[in-house]
Amino acid sequence: MRTNTTTLAAVRNLGILAHVDAGKTTVTERILYATGTTHKRGEVHDGTTVTDFDPQERDRGITIFAAAVSCAWDGRRINLIDTPGHVDFADEVERSLRVLDGAIAVFDAVAGVEPQSESVWRQADRHGVPRIAFVNKMDRAGADLDRAVESIRQRLHPVPLVVQLPIGAEDGFTGVVDLVRMRSLVWATDPDGAGTAVEGPVPEPLRQEAARRRRALEETVAELHPAALEEFCDRGTLGSGTLAEALRDLTRTGGGVVVLCGSAYRNRGIEPLLDAVVAYLPSPLDVPAVRGVHEGTEQQRAADPEVPFAGLVFKVHASTTGRLAYVRVYAGTIEKGDTVWDPGTGRTERVARILRVMADRHVQLDRAVAGDIVALAGVKSARTGSTLCDPGAPLLLEPPVAAEPVVSVA
Ligand code: GDP
Repeated sequence: MRTNTTTLAAVRNLGILAHVDAGKTTVTERILYATGTTHKRGEVHDGTTVTDFDPQERDRGITIFAAAVSCAWDGRRINLIDTPGHVDFADEVERSLRVLDGAIAVFDAVAGVEPQSESVWRQADRHGVPRIAFVNKMDRAGADLDRAVESIRQRLHPVPLVVQLPIGAEDGFTGVVDLVRMRSLVWATDPDGAGTAVEGPVPEPLRQEAARRRRALEETVAELHPAALEEFCDRGTLGSGTLAEALRDLTRTGGGVVVLCGSAYRNRGIEPLLDAVVAYLPSPLDVPAVRGVHEGTEQQRAADPEVPFAGLVFKVHASTTGRLAYVRVYAGTIEKGDTVWDPGTGRTERVARILRVMADRHVQLDRAVAGDIVALAGVKSARTGSTLCDPGAPLLLEPPVAAEPVVSVA
C-alpha cells in the first residue's frame, strides 16, 4: 500500500541549528528521549550520545558529520537532520539545510546570539527554511529570556513571537506559561531529572504579567496577519485558535519566529518544543515542489508518491552496516531492489536496502515515499550532492545554493 498525502502531512524534516556549545547535541538527545526513541539518556560529556556516530566526533565533542534520525511525536514522524555546529563545516550545514523543511535555532540564554548563530541563520534565510527559536540553558546563572530575545531581534532581524513566559529563573527555573493556551507547565524534579510537565492554570503571581505578554503577542501577530487583524479589530482580542493558526502561517512564510525557552540539560521545555514543531513548522506538502533540469529544460516535481522518483543524497556515511547514502526523497516512491539513475555521473545503481535510521537501530523498509528521509544501502557511486532519479524520467535536481564565505569566530 502506498503512503497517501495525509501521511505526508504528518512528516516534519527538521534540523537543529546552533552555535557550538549552545546545546544542540543536548536538545537532540532530549528530543530522542522524549519521543521514546532512546530509553537511556546519552550525555554529551561521557561520549554516549546516540546521534554522534563517529568516534572522531565523540573525541572532539562537537557534531561534525550530519546524520539523520527518525522519531515519532504526537502521531507525526520527525526526521531529525543533524547540522554541524562548527564553523569549519559550512558546506555540510549548507547541504543539510537543502533537505530540511524547518529548523529549531538553539540559543544560549546567557550569551544570546553568538557570531556563528548569525552565519547559520543567514544560510537558513537563503534557503528559506522556516524556523522556531529555542532559548536554552534557562537554568544558568545570568539566563535572561528577554535579553536573549532582544539580541535575536537586533542581530538576526526577525519579528520574535515569544509564546512563553518563564516561571522562575536560573536554578529556580521550573516551568513556563504557555501564552497561546494560557496554561502553565511545571516540570517535576524526579531523581533522574527526567521531569514530565504538569499542566495547570497560570499561577496567581504571574497572571498579570502573563496577560500583559499575551496581549503584546496578540498585537504583534494582528499587525502581521490579516485574518488575525480582522478578529482583533472585531473582538478586541484574539482567540487561542486564531492565534495558533496565525503563528503557524507566520512561521511558514518567515513573517515571524516563534520563541520558546527551556533547559535541555534539565529536560525542561522539550515537550512544548516538539508540540511547536508539529503545530508551526511545515510538512513536505507545505513547501514548494522541487525543481530540477533535464536536457536544459527546467521542471518541477511535486511531493507526490505517484510521480516519478527523484531524491537528493545529502550525506554519505560509512557505518557498521556498510556505505549508507542519506537521501531526501522529493518526489515519487523508491522501492527496495529498484534501479535508480544518477544524472550527474550517468550511472545506474541498484538500491539493495532502504533503512530508516532510528537513534539506536536501523529499520528496514520496503519503500520510501516523497517527503521522507531514509538511508540507502548498495548505492555505490552516489556522493553527497548526487541526484538519484527514476531512469525513465530523468531529472537533475538543482545544485544547492553556494556557501557564503564564513567569517571566522574569534
Ligand atoms: P552543542 O555544541 O551545541 O551540541 O552543545 P552541547 O549539547 O554539547 O552542550 C554544550 C554544553 O552545554 C555541554 O556541557 C552541556 O552539558 C551544556 N548544556 C546543554 N544544555 C544545557 C542547559 O540547558 N543548561 C545548562 N546549564 N547547560 C547545558
